[in-house]
Amino acid sequence: MAALDRRIMNRLDALNYYTATKKYDLAFPRLTQDIEADVVVIGGGFSGINTALELAEKGITDVVVLEAKHLGYGGTGRNGGQVMAGIGHDLNAVKKHVGPEGLETLFKIANLGAGIIRERIEKYGINADFCQGYGYLAYNERQVKTLRTWEKEFSAVDPDEDIELLTGAAVSSVIGSDVYAGVLKHMGGGHVHSLNLLLGEAQALASHGARIFENSPVISVDYGDRITVRTNAGKVTASKLLWACDSFLNKLEPSIYGKTINTYAFQIATEPLSDALIERISPIRGAYSDIRPVIDYFRVTRENRLLYGSATRLFDYIPEDLAGWNRALMLKTFPYLADVKVELAWGGPMACSANLFPQIGTLDGRPNAFYVQGYSGFGVTPSHIVCKVLAEGMSEGSARYDLMSSIPHVSILGRDAARAPITSAAKAWHQLSGYFNGRR
Ligand SMILES: Cc1cc2nc3c(=O)[nH]c(=O)nc-3n(C[C@H](O)[C@H](O)[C@H](O)COP(=O)(O)OP(=O)(O)OC[C@H]3O[C@@H](n4cnc5c(N)ncnc54)[C@H](O)[C@@H]3O)c2cc1C
Repeated sequence: MAALDRRIMNRLDALNYYTATKKYDLAFPRLTQDIEADVVVIGGGFSGINTALELAEKGITDVVVLEAKHLGYGGTGRNGGQVMAGIGHDLNAVKKHVGPEGLETLFKIANLGAGIIRERIEKYGINADFCQGYGYLAYNERQVKTLRTWEKEFSAVDPDEDIELLTGAAVSSVIGSDVYAGVLKHMGGGHVHSLNLLLGEAQALASHGARIFENSPVISVDYGDRITVRTNAGKVTASKLLWACDSFLNKLEPSIYGKTINTYAFQIATEPLSDALIERISPIRGAYSDIRPVIDYFRVTRENRLLYGSATRLFDYIPEDLAGWNRALMLKTFPYLADVKVELAWGGPMACSANLFPQIGTLDGRPNAFYVQGYSGFGVTPSHIVCKVLAEGMSEGSARYDLMSSIPHVSILGRDAARAPITSAAKAWHQLSGYFNGRR
């Protein structure tokens, strides 16, 4: 984890909303022996646990998951909990690789999203505060026009869902802020306590007989027909391997490490608010994000807190005062929260790919070594979708795995040495292109 910025690294162990409100008291042992398995997974976030769970549901239960710290230590236990529609920032970014038919398949895959999360919660009785109701927010008429297109696209794939674009005075029926010109209400999306969701999924995985080890950082991997994965105190030998470390992948596997670059996002949680204030902020008790190239996103929680998140717009840096940074943005959106206290502030890295599309595949020349990474800040729903497809690729194979894994993954030269200038330049480009694709 050498490449993570020290100012964020130093704060990763601080309490965040999710660790403070965790409902599952699970503890898995450290790996201290040499064991055999069919599949070994490195990384205990949504990607590792979900792929393992998908495999277990297919009958492949001899699976071992190795987590360096504790389950949910990575992005999975520190995100905004937003369950948004879709799979990547802009599916058109991969059109040239998959063609029009492939794009249509990707749209269908993308639409699996919140449904998988809902089904999983129901199937295993997971206690994760899942709440339906999402609002995509427009600041101006250009963005409203974009939302009009999204309304048609979302309604076409989900005709029975409550999806509606509201403008003018009607906006206040979905969001209590004067700064928006329009909101696309999508009651299929919503928000979830991502750490409790992960822990519920891990419990389900263990109930299938899979073995999970925490505090077991992998320090080396020997590839071959049988792959050996070593920690300081033991090893796992397996027929198949999955790398699922996302932004926390260190240089252990340079061939995939170089295909993403880390940026950072920050969150705050307010003190619990009155029912009346929550009703004013969010009549649908939902989650929201604007549609600018770099978004602000927020949601209410079961305990009536407001979680507000953001990232730097242009220059990639870590603000000294994380709480103050997001509080100022929150007050621009909701000036009437001036007297509200911020109780928790935290942040974390996000692995971004060059096309902002999640990456799955196998390492060059190693058909039994799989990887998944690069959600580009958008991984709660996408990890559930992508890992379903990945598990197909790791078991019986599928056309949609072949399609998704055929998308080339560009290496990012200087991903550590020039991280800040590269991500700042990428943000500048992203912001500029926002004018042409209706997001500014
Ligand atoms: C502040 C913030 C806000 C976000 N908000 C949202 C949001 O609202 N909606 C959304 O869709 N997405 C959001 N994201 C992105 C989302 O959280 C991630 O894309 C997603 O959780 C990635 O899951 P993952 O399992 O791939 O990786 P992670 O959850 O990062 O898990 C990787 C795991 O690998 C482990 N690991 C690393 N190296 C080793 C090793 N050598 N041995 C063993 N284990 C190892 C790490 O300890 C870690 O637990 C946000 C991210 C951040 C940081």
